Amino acid sequence: MSNVFEQYEKKNEFLVCVDSDGCAMDTMEIKHRRCFAPEMIKTWNLTEREDYILNLWYDLNLYTKTRGINRFKGLAETFKIISKEGVEIEDLDSILNWVETTNELSNNSLLREIEKTDSKGLKMTHEWSLNVNKSIEELPKGDEPFEGVSEGLEALSKKVDVAVVSSANGEALNDEWGRHDYIKFLTALLGQEAGTKQHCIAELKKKGYDTDNVLMVGDAPGDLQAAQKNDVRYYPILVGKEKFSWDRLVNEAVPKLMNGTFDEEYQNKLIKEFNDSLK
Ligand SMILES: [Mg+2]
Repeated sequence: MSNVFEQYEKKNEFLVCVDSDGCAMDTMEIKHRRCFAPEMIKTWNLTEREDYILNLWYDLNLYTKTRGINRFKGLAETFKIISKEGVEIEDLDSILNWVETTNELSNNSLLREIEKTDSKGLKMTHEWSLNVNKSIEELPKGDEPFEGVSEGLEALSKKVDVAVVSSANGEALNDEWGRHDYIKFLTALLGQEAGTKQHCIAELKKKGYDTDNVLMVGDAPGDLQAAQKNDVRYYPILVGKEKFSWDRLVNEAVPKLMNGTFDEEYQNKLIKEFNDSLK
């Protein structure tokens, strides 16, 4: 874990950290619409109120303040709501209990819990999660970056250090960012193996950047939190307005960061806009 930071080389005085999924790469819509949600319908056979449940899933994972939450938390939230609406989920208590109490929301931790409890609900959750991974792997590899990202990264990399800070797995990140030949624009490509986003920003700051010279760019409330915990500035890529957001990042926000006018008023305006974009 430490190695990646030991080898890091600071090149400029300013650092822009960029999230990947839903921020630079247009991968969230397709993953939720083609993988997470349909696999949930299949695994729990929720065909009877399918449209309602699908839309609830999209809202929770894409369009509201919970955008970008962990898959198991998303599942638990969805099930809590639909069970109140009369949709029965077998062994729901085991699922909710695990999600609320585990210290690691992962397939491996789920398997350990299944060994202990032999719970049907958890077995289905595990099956769903594996099927989601499989269907994500099978997605066609198209042109995933948002419009404006290519030019944006190129322009930024001439003035500032650009580091990807993501909670996706490192291999997938290398594959995606490598396939589009974007790695040349970066000083680091950090995935979940490097630690949480908050941790990664903290480690990068130690490389000699002034706190006022660091900006986190993200699309979800978790990105904002990671920035705030490190006292660095935050710039939102707004859902549905990604091209506009990237253009403004390059033409307005980063210039402001560099000339010292990215002040509290500007920051508050951006955060308000971000909060308003998520229901
Ligand atoms: Mg994201």
